[in-house]
Formats: sequence, structure tokens, C-alpha cells
Amino acid sequence: MLRYLLDIRGNVSMELPELAVLGRQMRNEIVGKCVSEVEVVNPKCLNMPFEQFEKTIVGETIESVESKGKWLFIKLDAYLLLFNPGMGADVIHFTPDDELPEKYQIRFTLDDGSGFTIRVWWFCYLHLMREEESGRHKFTGRLGISPLDQNFTLDYFKQMLEKRQGIIKNYMLNQKNIAGIGNVYVQDMLFNAKLHPKRKIPSLTDMEIANLYKSIRSVLNESIRLGGLAYEKDFYGNKGGYGSEQFKIAYKQGKPCPNCKTIIQKIKTGSTSSFVCPTCQPLDI
Ligand SMILES: [Zn+2]
Repeated sequence: MLRYLLDIRGNVSMELPELAVLGRQMRNEIVGKCVSEVEVVNPKCLNMPFEQFEKTIVGETIESVESKGKWLFIKLDAYLLLFNPGMGADVIHFTPDDELPEKYQIRFTLDDGSGFTIRVWWFCYLHLMREEESGRHKFTGRLGISPLDQNFTLDYFKQMLEKRQGIIKNYMLNQKNIAGIGNVYVQDMLFNAKLHPKRKIPSLTDMEIANLYKSIRSVLNESIRLGGLAYEKDFYGNKGGYGSEQFKIAYKQGKPCPNCKTIIQKIKTGSTSSFVCPTCQPLDI
């Protein structure tokens, strides 16, 4: 069991559900408060020198917190603060009575003495810019549609896939197409739709696209409902409830497929690993 958890830990990062849960919790705690102090140990994550960042952000009031894809959009008076957790980060709330976590690289303290710390596993982005410039941001300016956006309908998804070449898994992971799906949730999304990750987009039938659409939404909604991945912490330091029991084939190589009992395989698909049931997800149809 321990080995299984460790194997996952090195492979997961935060995807749409984790950012959605974090964004909602942050909204409840920090909106309406003013930034009074900021500490950044790893200034490489900033898009400006620390002194400029500090001078700009201290005194700004937090107006809203939204998540899109793997990003948080923290709206201040005149600025927008963009955060991406890279391979994963603990973003943890504190009150004036709490002891700060032992390790963190970033700390925001607010005017009531509360705030949050960020501990990053590998790297993160913390970019500050004027709101009107945010459309030109090199990452978020080109983010695709959120799969939970009300405009992401089945018809819209079909239109997106029209005339596209390439393989379906790569398409789903490209943040410029759909924002927020990564190599964790994509596994069961494809499995539910009985699609091999290497299926070419033009080969997909209307029924397969409809099943994939349904699966994308249900996997994400179920994880949000359970508080995100069991391997990531939320704003209060609690782990989510979406873990090995919820995964159908993800990270379950060597175990039987829940549908047909064929042994699940782990294969290489370009630069990412994929988990497939060779019976339920045939490549040649
Ligand atoms: Zn199967």
C-alpha cells in the first residue's frame, strides 16, 4: 500500500478539481482583506524583481479568487495575481493564532493577521500584472475552455475536435485546447469512454465523443465533490477524498480491469505514461 501511494505521489500534480476546491476555500477566507506583508524565498517564480513585487502588492485588497484549469486568478484592486502550482504545492491558510508550517517558500499576510503560506514541490509561477495585460500572459492568455464551463457542451466539444489530427490523449492534455486536465484524471476519462489513449481524433465516432464528453465531466465533478485528490492538501491542510478507490485503471498496472478482469498495462504514450485495459480500450478497431 505504501509503495502504491509513493508511486502516485511522484506522478500526480494538481489538476482542475484541486485548483477548484482550493480556489473556493480561499475565496471564503481571503476576499475583502488587504495584503500587508509578503515573503518570497524563491523569487524565480515571480515575473519581476521581489522588491517591485512587494511594493506593488502590499496595500492591495483581494477582490476575488477564481480558478481556471491549473491556475488561480487572484484579483486585486488594480492587479491580477496568477498562481500555478507546477508539480504540486501546499497552499495553506493560517490565522493569527496558528503556528506557520515548518517549510514554505511564499507567505502572504493580510491586514487581519491571517494569511497563507505556499510550499512548492518543484517550481511554481506567481505572476503579477495589470488586469488589462492579463490577456497577453504567455500561459493563461492562451488557456482553452474549462471542461466544466457551461459553454463546453457536447456540440462544442464535437466542433473542437472537427478537422483535428493527432491522438486524443495529447489533445486533451494540451492546456490550449481544454484547461485543467492532466495525466492523472485523463486515464479514467479515456477508460470510461473505452478509448485507447493513442486513438487518432478523426477515427472517433459520434458515440465515442459523446461518451468521452460525459466521462470528462463526471470524473471532474466527482473529484470536486470529494474534495480533490487524496494525495494533495486543501487550504486547511486536509487531504481530498479522491484516491485509489475512485481510480478505475489509473496507477493500477498489474491489477485486473474492473470491467473485464484483463490485466491493466502501463504503457508509454509520447512523453507521458498511460494505463490501459487492452480489452476494453483496443487501439485497432
Ligand atoms: Zn477491461
